[in-house]
Amino acid sequence: MPEDGSRAAAISIRADTIFAPATEAERAAIAIIRLSGPEAHGALCALAGAPLPPWRQLVRRALRGPDGELIDHAMVVVFPAGASYTGEAMGEIHCHGGNAVVSDVLACLADLPGCRLAEPGEFTQRAFFDGRLDLSEVEGLADLIAAETSGQRRQALRMLSGAVSRQCEGWRALLLQARALIELTIDWADEEVPEDVERRVKPILERLMREMSGELSRAGAAERMRTGFEVAIVGPPNVGKSSLLNAIAGREAAIVSEVAGTTRDVIEVRFDLGGLPVVFLDTAGLRVARDTVEQMGIDRARQRAAAADLRLVLRSPDTGECPDNALPRNGDISVWAKSDLGQGDGEVAVSARDNLGIEELLETVRMRLGGKISRSGVLGNARQRIALERSRRDLDFAAAALAAGEPEVAAEHLRLAEESLERLVGRIGVEDVLGEVFGSFCLGK
Ligand code: GDP
Repeated sequence: MPEDGSRAAAISIRADTIFAPATEAERAAIAIIRLSGPEAHGALCALAGAPLPPWRQLVRRALRGPDGELIDHAMVVVFPAGASYTGEAMGEIHCHGGNAVVSDVLACLADLPGCRLAEPGEFTQRAFFDGRLDLSEVEGLADLIAAETSGQRRQALRMLSGAVSRQCEGWRALLLQARALIELTIDWADEEVPEDVERRVKPILERLMREMSGELSRAGAAERMRTGFEVAIVGPPNVGKSSLLNAIAGREAAIVSEVAGTTRDVIEVRFDLGGLPVVFLDTAGLRVARDTVEQMGIDRARQRAAAADLRLVLRSPDTGECPDNALPRNGDISVWAKSDLGQGDGEVAVSARDNLGIEELLETVRMRLGGKISRSGVLGNARQRIALERSRRDLDFAAAALAAGEPEVAAEHLRLAEESLERLVGRIGVEDVLGEVFGSFCLGK
């Protein structure tokens, strides 16, 4: 539940009844218009006629304007306050998806007293303030709507289903337990301190530190799942990097040329690799540059390639050796390119010209990245990771203070560690992130 300031803001926005189309504003078979707020049921009756249908049952109704003119035949459904997505009285109109139908229904709703068009994400914001979703679940929902691959969908659904919240709740309970024990020693300061307190607190802190560190070490993979794994294609000029990227993408994404050094910048191609979002990067030929523009391209390529999750290091029969910085590193995939010109070393042999070995290469990439995913934890984004890092850091301070015989300092750091977890799930400090989190939502969500 958000802290008091947020709740006051929540109450003030709740006076309005909001409505918005929940489906894309395009010509479609059906459009769904949602309503939420105190006037939602009244507004629905104004358009679709009284009485209200039974809760949660779709019924067919004629929609009429204020002058009685038929606007459309639609299906309508109502949800009671206290048992709806937002927690408020809600309704939905499933009308025909033509632009005129939708805009006339919206115009009728806008004319009703107390009703206004919703802001993007406002339905979910109300659900959040009603305590129906916490912040990590809201983020899971935003990710689910944005998910482009099945791997992203699974991860988002885990977050929406409360995996982060449950994990934080468990840690919070342990932190409370540790703090209660330490506070005992503070309360008993002038008397004989129960000597086994430190012995009892230490294993709790150690467990928390171990679990949080484990979660943090896995957070990178989950963040990559959201943004896409970067796979850099590197090797000397003319080795066939752009051609390989084109073969992967199945389209002319990178310019292929016989003049060395034409791929100056980094070209990206997004790809759904068996559910994993992957961004293939075509890097400029890694070699000594002749001019500053080329040097800039090479520098950019080097930086991106170095930071990539995986590198495909290409060699081919007709180009020289790899420059040192393009030699395979641990975990990279060495690729023998232009295999149609001759045999050679490499984990995978490909010919972009004859379209050979591409599937095998993609499968190798998928397996290598899949290994990273199997180690992913529950945290889903940088905001959550940063909050957990803060919490984890305060545990270090608390442990040090405890060892130094400063229970007050230790208790304060445990309180701060708890606060960071509360921030993570949005129990406090939501104002700072509200715009960012809800702003990413579409209208009607
Ligand atoms: P990059 O500089 O590493 O990006 O290399 P490009 O993709 O631009 O290719 C350089 C040259 O090699 C071009 O003339 C391509 O047509 C040729 N090439 C690329 N891939 C193959 C291949 O699989 N087989 C053959 N025979 N030629 C290739």
